[in-house]
Amino acid sequence: MEQIYLDNAATSYPKPAQVAEQMAQYITQVGATINRSVYGRAQQAAEITLELRIRLAKLFGVQSATHVILTPGSTWGLNMLLFGALKPGDHCIVSAMEHNAVMRPLQHLTKKGITFDRIRCDVYGRVDLHHLESLMKQNTRLVVVAHGSNVCGTVQDAKSIGEICNRYEIPFCLDAAQTAGHIPIDFSELGLSALSVPAHKGLMGPQGIGALLLKPDFAKTLEPWVHGGTGSASHEEVTPNYMPDRFEPGTPNMPGIFGWNGALQYLEEVGLEQIMAHEKELCEYFLQGLAGIKGVKLVGMPTTEQRTGVFSLDFSPKDNAEVAWQLEDRYGILTRCGLHCAPSAHKTLGTFPNGTVRFSFGWFTTKEQVQAALKAIRELA
Ligand code: PMP
Repeated sequence: MEQIYLDNAATSYPKPAQVAEQMAQYITQVGATINRSVYGRAQQAAEITLELRIRLAKLFGVQSATHVILTPGSTWGLNMLLFGALKPGDHCIVSAMEHNAVMRPLQHLTKKGITFDRIRCDVYGRVDLHHLESLMKQNTRLVVVAHGSNVCGTVQDAKSIGEICNRYEIPFCLDAAQTAGHIPIDFSELGLSALSVPAHKGLMGPQGIGALLLKPDFAKTLEPWVHGGTGSASHEEVTPNYMPDRFEPGTPNMPGIFGWNGALQYLEEVGLEQIMAHEKELCEYFLQGLAGIKGVKLVGMPTTEQRTGVFSLDFSPKDNAEVAWQLEDRYGILTRCGLHCAPSAHKTLGTFPNGTVRFSFGWFTTKEQVQAALKAIRELA
């Protein structure tokens, strides 16, 4: 039986051919790290690393490539942000739709005297902008919001959130794990101080690498969270202040850098417009098909507006885990069931603690695959 991969919210699959090609090229023919040596192959590694930073800066409208911090992934970048920005006595605001990549570090920080509030969201997962304003306090130091929900695909009005944060002069950080590579994101238009993206989801790169893009004045206030060798200023035992070295200790994920650069080359060739059009068409098709099926409830936005191709379905009173198992066993359809590392989002959407079955599409998902999913849903509902 042919398998149908509909778990792109977890990680995108398949990857563009360039990803494996460039990773293999690095491992077999380059093999050197950056900043440590000066021979030709180390220069080549440095050039590709710079190329990647420039590509990311261009894609997200960040002026300085030195403020594109390469991290071991989104979770890492978000921890860098929360641990680096918040001190005892500080207050942080998040949405009620956050992923545990934000909530777990934040819950941990409450043990160190940091407090937080959640912005109320409606039944579709959209933040209440008035509530955000009412949560602003004297000691609020940071607002962090998941741009797109990993549970139901709802996309927040980041521009309005940014305007409010800027009015109160509070740094605004967007967790774009579910929107980068799916919809346009412009750093200055959204009034961001920080933007966190993983390589391995919509940006089609490998796992184990991500980026935290920083506004220069915000970067100056952020304390480094990890310290170590950078290959620069080796005469000193303290972390250098300059960017990006201030936030990039240790040998970087070089195969990841090459692979991600290849993925972004591919993304540039295809163009975000075409990706968006394709994903929107899949969403329309899926929503139309679902409308005629009884016995299954769609959670989140019921239209193609303000959403990505991430759909949560509730098959209760059937057991959602049993449905997900049958989807694989009988139809070869790969989905994810449960709470998707976002208990607060499920509480908002009314699907806690039972969870949902999540179908998530990407650039390589075809209309035929969505059709097969609809047929299976109809038979299982
Ligand atoms: N935020 C959101 C909204 C996510 O969906 C995810 C991944 N599921 C993350 C953060 C963390 O990303 P990673 O696991 O790649 O570090």
